[in-house]
Amino acid sequence: DVNAFKGKVEFTNVSFSYEKDGNTITDANFLVSPGETVALVGPTGAGKSTIINLLSRFYEPNQGTITIDGISIQQMTRKSLRRAMGFVLQDVFLFEGTIRENIRYGRLNATDEEVIEAAKQANAHKFISRLPNGYDTMLSQDGSGISQGQKQLLSIARAILRDPSILILDEATSNIDTVTEIKIQEALQRLMKNRTTFVIAHRLNTIQHANQILVLQAGKIIEKGNHETL
Ligand code: ATP
Ligand code: MG
Repeated sequence: DVNAFKGKVEFTNVSFSYEKDGNTITDANFLVSPGETVALVGPTGAGKSTIINLLSRFYEPNQGTITIDGISIQQMTRKSLRRAMGFVLQDVFLFEGTIRENIRYGRLNATDEEVIEAAKQANAHKFISRLPNGYDTMLSQDGSGISQGQKQLLSIARAILRDPSILILDEATSNIDTVTEIKIQEALQRLMKNRTTFVIAHRLNTIQHANQILVLQAGKIIEKGNHETL
């Protein structure tokens, strides 16, 4: 089962360009042990999202290899690779459907009980239960009617249901009230536990707690370490 990945990730001499010439990523090398949290930091345009795009095989490197548990991701189907990955992004993808359906999108064969359990783990159950139609509340694609923070909680519930080996987290920077922010952080801690996590980090606290920090600048990893060593 592809979800049984331990989650060791290695980039070896990875270079990549979106265009014909120039390098977006130059000679990236790093090793992530199963369950570690890696913070990707660096200025806008440095290549943080590109590293994630390469790991997810939205793009292929021009040079070098990317492996998961020692197996080149080139040898995996995109489908099986993506099944092993979960995403919690700033812009939460929602579709027109109920809250239940939107959470279940993480794993389509999940039962109602599993959806509710995931929502509880994600600190989303309370706000959902307070809505007049609860889990049957219809959402529009833009999720109007629920807050930015609540969208994040739904996204976390979806990821918990998915139970991925590798988690991709793009921390929200938008205004989220303090109470919801605490709920999000707590839910994320649960989600990240024992899971290899790549986080495009904006919060100092996240960076401080990461096992590894990769500092990117103009497509190069200019520093590697943790909060103590950097
Ligand atoms: P941000 O903090 O703004 O999200 P980032 O570190 O994620 O930045 P990337 O999105 O990885 O940066 O972009 C790295 C470089 O690649 C930038 O110069 C960007 O303009 C370019 N780039 C990103 N996506 C594409 C694309 N689809 N086609 C062409 N160039 C791209
Ligand atoms: Mg980015």
